[in-house]
Amino acid sequence: MTQDTVIEIHDLNKWYGHFHVLKHINLSVHQGERIVICGPSGSGKSTLIRCINRLEEHQQGTIVVEGTELTRDLKNVTDIRKNVGMVFQGFNLFPHLTILENLTLAPTWVRQMPEKKAKKMAMDFLARVHIDSQAHKYPGQLSGGQQQRAAIARALCMNPRIMLFDEPTSALDPEMIKEVLDVMTELAEEGMTMICVTHEMGFARTVADRVIFMDAGEIIEEAPPQDFFTNPTFDRTQLFLSQIL
Ligand code: ADP
Ligand code: MG
Repeated sequence: MTQDTVIEIHDLNKWYGHFHVLKHINLSVHQGERIVICGPSGSGKSTLIRCINRLEEHQQGTIVVEGTELTRDLKNVTDIRKNVGMVFQGFNLFPHLTILENLTLAPTWVRQMPEKKAKKMAMDFLARVHIDSQAHKYPGQLSGGQQQRAAIARALCMNPRIMLFDEPTSALDPEMIKEVLDVMTELAEEGMTMICVTHEMGFARTVADRVIFMDAGEIIEEAPPQDFFTNPTFDRTQLFLSQIL
């Protein structure tokens, strides 16, 4: 593990009952690296990134995040979740809270941040994702793209050092995809370490340092985007790309 490795996954295996969902996964992620994971539905992409912040438990192998190994030890889980933000396909905002309240909830309750400071910080992040004018509305009053940007701002309020995205644009109408990808691109440019499950191959080409292709619970191929797209090594990758590009 080199000094700037922030995530180190070694021979990770996971089963759902008898179903072997993740098979011998090895992955190192460096500080500031941008990784895109793609692959067919059911290949284990969500399960893999959910293991990284322990939304799922693994049975074999090791996952070390910023020097802390993910085990049953709850203290380690809490430590890691402090540093790892996650954005899901559905926006998972609390519908009965305003956007601003959605953002200040965790900082004030989990971090015991004073209300005023939390509000100021939340407004700053809402401005960064260009929806500060929507702060006092409820999620249902916002477009899908605005809700997803609010969800990104909410994750950023916990001051994460790593961001995990699980198909953040796949529930959005086409005209809203770009505004969310633009925010993710800005975050990448600021140096955030990011793992993004997405089939937005334009984003992968321009933002990713490495593209990973998963199929049937395995990492089949990983390469910088220029190699991945022009010269995929494996038939399964070629087939997948021919279907989505
Ligand atoms: P992807 O994100 O690549 O579409 P997932 O990680 O969601 O794939 O799922 C991988 C496989 O594991 C799928 O076959 C899915 O049906 C199965 N799976 C996902 N979650 C569970 C669960 N909680 N229990 C049992 N099987 C699951
Ligand atoms: Mg998924």
